[in-house]
Order: sequence, then structure tokens, then C-alpha cells
Amino acid sequence: MSQQDLFSNNNFALEKNHKKKIKWLSHSAIEELNRCPRCFWLSYKEGIKLPEGIQSRLANRFDNILKKYFDSYRHQNKLPPLIEGKIKGTLKKPFKEAYFYKFDDDYGFYGKLDECLINEKEEHIPVDFKTASSDPREKETLSAYQNQIDEYLFLLEENGLKTANFGYLIYFFPEMTMELSNGFPMIIHVVKIERKSKDIKKRIGKAVSILKSSIPNPSEDCSYCRWFEKVKKYY
Ligand code: SF4
Repeated sequence: MSQQDLFSNNNFALEKNHKKKIKWLSHSAIEELNRCPRCFWLSYKEGIKLPEGIQSRLANRFDNILKKYFDSYRHQNKLPPLIEGKIKGTLKKPFKEAYFYKFDDDYGFYGKLDECLINEKEEHIPVDFKTASSDPREKETLSAYQNQIDEYLFLLEENGLKTANFGYLIYFFPEMTMELSNGFPMIIHVVKIERKSKDIKKRIGKAVSILKSSIPNPSEDCSYCRWFEKVKKYY
């Protein structure tokens, strides 16, 4: 057993021991905190979440299909034809989806990678699939996506893995065409995201300290809370 395997096994044991009692925060939790600390607190302390309304789960379906598609090329030691020539590296083998970081006895942070590449220096490169409804080639990368790649690099390193200091977003965008008889053509757009921040422990620490304090004030410009203020006298 290599030192790396030993590290992974120990880490797995750590994960197993702590999964039950630790509250695990994710990238989405930190983004929720950035939008509104009060909503974040209500979600993770009280399990009260903002109503989602009607939402499409189509992106989840795309993600599942893409993960299986990539996985089918893992043991052939080649990149899937959809991204050949757009990205360098090999698919990590075996692939591990979830990585955990224990912050303290009560809280931890975890992330689930869509895919992971290894470059010629044996460095890990996290990959996230994005299904786009507008052309991603004309858009700036959202700060939430930058944060996500920074957090994945952090998690890989905390789990004893070398990283390449960047990750990839792979966008899948349906092409506008009338030629649909032989399949539904997709534009595949790859964006390399260089690491911007290593200070992820600070991000997690801020979230944990909010959860360990009393409920924060609502955001001033939130339409939900303003609506509730107006209607509550009628209850
Ligand atoms: S302001 Fe109120 S409703 Fe809006 S996000 Fe925050 S807690 Fe939720």
C-alpha cells in the first residue's frame, strides 16, 4: 500500500467517524452565506429553506449523463472524444468524487467533483460540468464558479493530493440549428480557472462563526423579507 493509499484510508476512517456528528457545509452553503447570512443561518441551524418554486432538474440529468460518459473512458486511458484536443491530461483513476475537510468538532466542509484530471506532473485538476442556457463563450465567469474551483483545489490539497493550481469548467450549450435529425448538437466550451484564493479556511471559519452565533439580520435588499414584513400583520 502506497503512502498515498494509506493517507486516503486514514482520511476515509476520519470521514466515517465524523460524518454522523459533524455538520458538513458545501460550496452552495458558502454561496448562500454570501447572499444572505440570515437565510444561511436559518437553513443550516433550523432547516428552514427559502421556497425553491418550480425548478428544472434538467442540469442534474445532464450532469449524471456526462459523469457516466467520462467514466466510460477512464479505463481506456484516453480522454472522451467530446473534449479531445480541448484539454490536456488523463482522467484520474480510480475517481473519487467526494472530499472532506474537518474544520472543528462540530463542522466540516466537503465538495463533490464532477471529474478530475491528472497532468504530466501527477498534479490534480478539478473539473466541473456546467449546463448553459445562454452562450458561455460570451460571458465572464461567475464569482461563484471561481470560488468553487478554489474550494476544490483546497479540498484536494487537504486530502494530501498535489494540485496544478487551476481547474476547468466544461460548459455544454445546445447549438442553434435546424439540423436535429442526427442528434442534438452541443457547443462544448472549456474555461481554465486559475486559482485566485487559497484562504478557504477563513471562508469556512466565517460560516462556522455565524452558525455558532445568534441569528444575523436579514439582507436589506431581499424581496422575500420585504414581502414578509408587509404581509405578516395579516396572519
Ligand atoms: S433577507 Fe430574509 S428571505 Fe431574504 S434571503 Fe435573507 S433571510 Fe432569506
